[in-house]
Amino acid sequence: MTNESHGPTLTLQAHAKINLSLDVLHKRRDGYHHLCMIMQEISLHDEVHLRLTPEPGIRLTTNAGFLPVDQGNIAWKAAERLARGAGVSLESQGVAIHIDKQIPVAAGLAGGSADAAAVLKGLNALWRLGLSLEELQLISLPLGADIPYCLMGGTALAEGIGERLTPLTLAKPFWVVLVKPPVSVSTREVYEALKLDEIEERPDTLALIEALAQADSLTMAGAMANVLETVTIPQVPEIGELKRRLLALNATASLMSGSGPTVFGLFKDQEKARSAGEKLKRLYREVHVVHTLRRSQ
Ligand code: ATP
Repeated sequence: MTNESHGPTLTLQAHAKINLSLDVLHKRRDGYHHLCMIMQEISLHDEVHLRLTPEPGIRLTTNAGFLPVDQGNIAWKAAERLARGAGVSLESQGVAIHIDKQIPVAAGLAGGSADAAAVLKGLNALWRLGLSLEELQLISLPLGADIPYCLMGGTALAEGIGERLTPLTLAKPFWVVLVKPPVSVSTREVYEALKLDEIEERPDTLALIEALAQADSLTMAGAMANVLETVTIPQVPEIGELKRRLLALNATASLMSGSGPTVFGLFKDQEKARSAGEKLKRLYREVHVVHTLRRSQ
């Protein structure tokens, strides 16, 4: 879209993800963990507004006052990295980014990565760079391991540090009730505290892939697991309680997403999801009733 007095603009939805599974296979020599996880895009989203400006540099604003608005913001870094990688000078023209934040922050929902992915996609279009999805994924990886997945969306198997992606089939969509308990967990500290030899329950990734394709929710529920719960549930027992509560409210499965603390329940039925969401809203401030999304391109 072009607005003559203010320069070309574009608005994108930056969708959150949940983990239908998260397994840590081993710790690599470079300190990263070798992961195997199934990621699922959901309808909960931030709005990312982009505008090309005659003024040089990157300017970022957001409704979330506590977020950094400089190079500390991953969306800012994404714009800078793309400009540098694609040879776009930010000295003769600039870009204004506004993030309307709806995704809970530091919640295991990859909100920052989703914003960065939206900036990369949007500027690829506004700057007419013509970069492919694979090229954008390559540029984005050093900024954050979840960004290549966020660029792709839908349902996907993510391996390595998250960069080896395989699209998967989700035969039937789900309603998703998300609850973020009012606690903070640090992703880095959760991974550091994880003891690989003490993990008791691992996901059955192959069974889960098959169950997703067959819409077999019973097998799905048995195959889903997040090994990071080994660390977070003893530290924040509320995470375990929330999982039980969601199951008692008719969720077909319930799990912590990413490194938490957000817990989600899957529902086949919108009414049951709404009703569970209403009950949980009496107890928690951050409750969202959303649904799974298919890959858009
Ligand atoms: P993941 O699931 O990838 O671990 P997360 O949901 O746990 O991500 P984010 O919401 O992406 O975490 O934010 C993690 C940290 O990144 C926060 O401490 C926040 O200050 C910082 N941050 C930088 N830019 C952003 C952004 N655009 N949106 C959210 N957080 C951001």
